[in-house]
Amino acid sequence: MYYSSGNYEAFATPKKPEGVDAKSAYLIGSGLAALSAACFLVRDGQMKGEHVHILEKDPIPGGACDGYKYQDIGYVMRGGREMDNHFECMWDLFRSIPSIETEGVSVLDEYYWLNKEDPNYSLCRSTRARGIDAGTNGKFALTDKASMEIMKLFFTPNEELYGKKISDFFDDEVFDSNFWMYWRTMFAFENWHSALEMKLYIKRYIHHIGGLPDFSALRFTRYNQYESMILPMITYLEGFGVQFHYNVKVDNVEFKIGGGMGPARPHTGVGQDTILKKQAESGTFVRNPYSSPTRKMATRIDLTEADGATRTIALSDNDLVFITNGGCVENSSMGSQNTPAPYNTEIKEGGGWDMWRKIAAQDPSFGHPDKFCYDPEQTNWMSATVETLDQRIIPYIKNICKRDPFTGKVVTGGIVTVKDSSWLMSWTINRQPQFRQQPKDHCLVWVYALFTDKPGDYVKKPMRECTGKEICMEWLYHIGVPESEIEDMAANSANTVPVMMPYIDAFFMPRAYGDRPKVVPDGAVNFAFLGQFAETPRDTIFTTEYSMRTGMEAVYTLLNVDRGVPEVWGSVYDVRDLLDATVKLRDGKKLSDMELNLVEKMALKKVLSKIHGTDIEKLLKEYQVI
Ligand SMILES: Cc1cc2nc3c(=O)[nH]c(=O)nc-3n(C[C@H](O)[C@H](O)[C@H](O)COP(=O)(O)OP(=O)(O)OC[C@H]3O[C@@H](n4cnc5c(N)ncnc54)[C@H](O)[C@@H]3O)c2cc1C
Repeated sequence: MYYSSGNYEAFATPKKPEGVDAKSAYLIGSGLAALSAACFLVRDGQMKGEHVHILEKDPIPGGACDGYKYQDIGYVMRGGREMDNHFECMWDLFRSIPSIETEGVSVLDEYYWLNKEDPNYSLCRSTRARGIDAGTNGKFALTDKASMEIMKLFFTPNEELYGKKISDFFDDEVFDSNFWMYWRTMFAFENWHSALEMKLYIKRYIHHIGGLPDFSALRFTRYNQYESMILPMITYLEGFGVQFHYNVKVDNVEFKIGGGMGPARPHTGVGQDTILKKQAESGTFVRNPYSSPTRKMATRIDLTEADGATRTIALSDNDLVFITNGGCVENSSMGSQNTPAPYNTEIKEGGGWDMWRKIAAQDPSFGHPDKFCYDPEQTNWMSATVETLDQRIIPYIKNICKRDPFTGKVVTGGIVTVKDSSWLMSWTINRQPQFRQQPKDHCLVWVYALFTDKPGDYVKKPMRECTGKEICMEWLYHIGVPESEIEDMAANSANTVPVMMPYIDAFFMPRAYGDRPKVVPDGAVNFAFLGQFAETPRDTIFTTEYSMRTGMEAVYTLLNVDRGVPEVWGSVYDVRDLLDATVKLRDGKKLSDMELNLVEKMALKKVLSKIHGTDIEKLLKEYQVI
């Protein structure tokens, strides 16, 4: 497997890998990672569809990417996906997946046209005092000291960030800024989360800094992501005869470790891989300290069928196993209009965490699940789906987002954060309808909050103890509904379903290199790890792209598909993006206007005189750095 960039490889069709007709694949999980791996197996690996088996413990596919109407409870979307134009592996795949909406076009075409015609941006990013625009006015409001703290993190080598928290690098100068309010609510970061991931995020999305305050950086699908992404992938895979096995829990995968060296997969030195090769040869490239070239082979899958019967699948080296380890929606639970969502934290057999623990116990290079799942108090948050049943709540929504929710176009254009909410509540309304079957005059609102243990401002109870109706009441209070009408509206004009996700932020827990297994561990013969808890360089977790990238890398490595995997978008290596982000972070203030002491001023003057009349000066002026 090697990385590429540009469009030479993007449009190439790889040759059929040698020996693929004799191979089979078992994919554990049916989230985006496993479904993408299955798509890459049949599209690029040209594996026979009927040789591909998807083993999923749930009764339906999709994993974290959900969106259903439960007959007795109502609509549920645990999340909504903010996405990017530079989700390279995702678009590489979705260009081939036919839309299930419009005949003859791809999912990518559909998404591209939609976001071209109806671009996303917000007209109110946050409110205070029960529905008044918080007046952040698209500003980050970072002091010079705060900007320097961010810069320092940006330039700190990854190794120095292992096990560190964001609060080890930022203090109230950053935490009290609009920047932090935007950032942590948009990406669901907490102050105690990983400083390493925070840095990777800044680098990964450096080209989007200017588009963060009003969300013009974002793009969304037409419907919820189960309907807009998962269903087209399922239809595509079924067309190839891929075998889906639902209600099947994988308890463990057994490995044989040893018996010589595993397959060597040196850097190819092709395309972008020349850079990785150089890094590897120079010795500056950090290696997983737990890796070894010893042969590692998956020999058996132990599973429990829907009826409770246990079964094993014996594996040869022609049987490839793709394991989605861990899981951000493991143990998630639903409440209803009149019941809270239970807070189930116990890790049980047959789930993603327990399976990973059993696998990890077999070799040090298979990662450390307990670095991520040891304390749900640090990783949980909740969301709720509010369905409006009549028109009473709509004027309060319009008053804030300045748009009519029923035009079919962008509504809030991303989340609206309630700045003075004790729960740190945010809410969003994506293009309506969010479900193809949704009544045309009902509006679906996604509400979420980061602090589920703090009493609310109106309901006076922690979110995790609230019924759907009570969560709706807290939201109605913050959007300015008169107190006398709140309870009646929450009871009769809306149906709200809460969801508790104890491990939703598990991947943000402070970690070190080696805590997540490599997508294909060194020495692995026939298996790979997929999803948010597998390690791939430079990309950032909690994204659809991350999961899909691991699927592509896993298939390309194990089948030796001879085509480049698109590298993570390289804006961090583009001086134009870096300059632009630097100025945007300072709300447009030139770097030369920074408060400097006398020595610093003299140094700056000297540098400016040195670059006078050069292209460097021109570039700095062009990006308004000086
Ligand atoms: C609330 C929320 C908001 C999000 N927001 C965004 C966003 O704004 N932008 C963005 O890009 N991404 C977002 N994401 C992330 C994105 O949706 C996920 O990263 C992605 O869907 C995860 O896919 P996955 O396949 O890696 O894992 P999962 O979807 O978790 O899939 C794992 C699958 O494995 C199954 N499984 C686990 N253990 C076993 C076992 N032992 N046996 C059999 N099956 C098993 C599970 O049931 C599950 O189906 C969000 C996710 C959530 C939940």
